[in-house]
Amino acid sequence: MIAEAGAQRLLLELADADAEIARLDHRRATLAEDAEIADTERELDAARDDLVRSEISGEDLTREYRRIDSEVTGMAAREKKDSALLTAGGLAPKALSELQHELAGLGRRRSVLEDDLLSVMEQQEALEAERGRAAATIEHLEGKLAAVRVRREESITSIETDRGDKQRRRDDIAAEVAPELLAVYDRQRSAGRVGAGLLRARRCGACRMELDRGTIARISAASSDEVIRCEECGAILVRTAESGL
Ligand SMILES: [Zn+2]
Repeated sequence: MIAEAGAQRLLLELADADAEIARLDHRRATLAEDAEIADTERELDAARDDLVRSEISGEDLTREYRRIDSEVTGMAAREKKDSALLTAGGLAPKALSELQHELAGLGRRRSVLEDDLLSVMEQQEALEAERGRAAATIEHLEGKLAAVRVRREESITSIETDRGDKQRRRDDIAAEVAPELLAVYDRQRSAGRVGAGLLRARRCGACRMELDRGTIARISAASSDEVIRCEECGAILVRTAESGL
């Protein structure tokens, strides 16, 4: 294939533009903000789980408190009744002794239950602090997530603007390249390879492979408008004054 040396050199600019576009696409696909969002969402899930757990424990404690409290109330009522009976007097000695015994027992058990109530209240207090910490963590993480999402949008906008510019530049260059030459370049690219590379210091600029003496001699002998492909990667090997042929 024959293509004017100047047209071949345009392919180097085209390859640069394509490499820049590929870099931008890679940046868009591997945004640091995406990883940050995923991490923050994981932390947020954990904090929400903590909150739910402390709320469930809180409900358990409330039930426990009510149970003990109602028992204490029941005992207090019985103590009041027994005390009224004692005050009323006129009991047989045996009944009197039984009543006194019962009252003392009720008092002891009520005192134990009141201690239990205090312990439940302490646990409630600790749990409330825990709940507060989890809620504060959630608030902090939600704020962080919102900020990262804003930064992510800004990054995407900046990358897309940049990519639009590069794509326009690429299209402008491509428009100047002869269609047959561009077709070779594009076929190479659609195979996932670099379309063109500068031959320099005996190396293909696309795949960095060093060319042997025979190949270099053949290339040196070829006319400047002959299109030469790298034997290794298939890229169009572009020769310039830098090629040192
Ligand atoms: Zn190559």
